[in-house]
Amino acid sequence: MTLVVIFGITLAANGDLFQGRLSLRSKPLPAHDETKNQQTRNKILPAYDETKTQLNTLVIVDTDDYKITEKDVTDLFKLASDIYLKPKTGITFNVTGIKFASFSEGNLNFSSYLDEEYAKNQESKSNLPEYIVAFDKNEVTNEYGGYKAHYVIYWLIDDLENGQKINYCNKFPSKYIGGQYPSEISIPAAVVDYGHRYAICGYDTDGITIISNTSINGQCINQEGIPCISKNGYQMCSNLQNAFYAQNLLYYSAKTIVHELMHNYGENGEGDHFGTNTCKENMGEKEFQDILNKTPIAPFDSVTKEYADMCPNVWQNFLNSKQNCL
Ligand SMILES: [Zn+2]
Repeated sequence: MTLVVIFGITLAANGDLFQGRLSLRSKPLPAHDETKNQQTRNKILPAYDETKTQLNTLVIVDTDDYKITEKDVTDLFKLASDIYLKPKTGITFNVTGIKFASFSEGNLNFSSYLDEEYAKNQESKSNLPEYIVAFDKNEVTNEYGGYKAHYVIYWLIDDLENGQKINYCNKFPSKYIGGQYPSEISIPAAVVDYGHRYAICGYDTDGITIISNTSINGQCINQEGIPCISKNGYQMCSNLQNAFYAQNLLYYSAKTIVHELMHNYGENGEGDHFGTNTCKENMGEKEFQDILNKTPIAPFDSVTKEYADMCPNVWQNFLNSKQNCL
């Protein structure tokens, strides 16, 4: 167990420093075009920019929490590409780097780690990723599987103001990442529990210690006394052993990698989940129903899961992002 770190929070403290500096947005993202959105938001389109075939992704592994290899990481991202991202968008995750580090000692957190990694290394600036996934087990990821984050490359501000070219291009900048920093220097990120155990059964509230062979603590969809079985290397609720996420230990983590990615391209938080009122309003009731009525594509057993539980219009926002170079 380690600290809960949300990228960007520690970096957002110097508000005054950056007041008035936003003029450096020499290449602002295009304004939200309602007319265009009306025409395209109801469809999942192929990426119209043919160069947008790969999402360059940096992975950080907290070695205090996981004993996993580079192959474990690339296998998971291949799965996430194969069943989620590629069928819907034509885009695959391209893991450009995997950093293994211990985050439990001292004050090291993901943001400061990345600051060190890039700010002090001129050569690596042009290799900045377009998405960052940190594998970390903390109270939130242990319970929910992961959460959205973003990394602000705040140290680029001075370079940009001085007119230096960074040679950093992001094919998928998100204008939906809020805060006081220009979205062009904010990289979508997620903190994810690698190998998240779906439907744990008989574990104490820490999620680690087994104290029962039947469900407790609201497990198994709030049913006490459901017998636990052994599956995928842990104790699972027997009433959920045939559920989709019980079929493969990595399905839930793959879903979370995509789910939290897409949260970075929406501005409604949980309202951007599949099937919410906000989702239906943004898509139009009929268009939403048309998607809902489709037959799920294997291996999924529902259209909701096919979209990683995210509203199709947010997937569209991801596809609509246009390359920005600094
Ligand atoms: Zn969510």
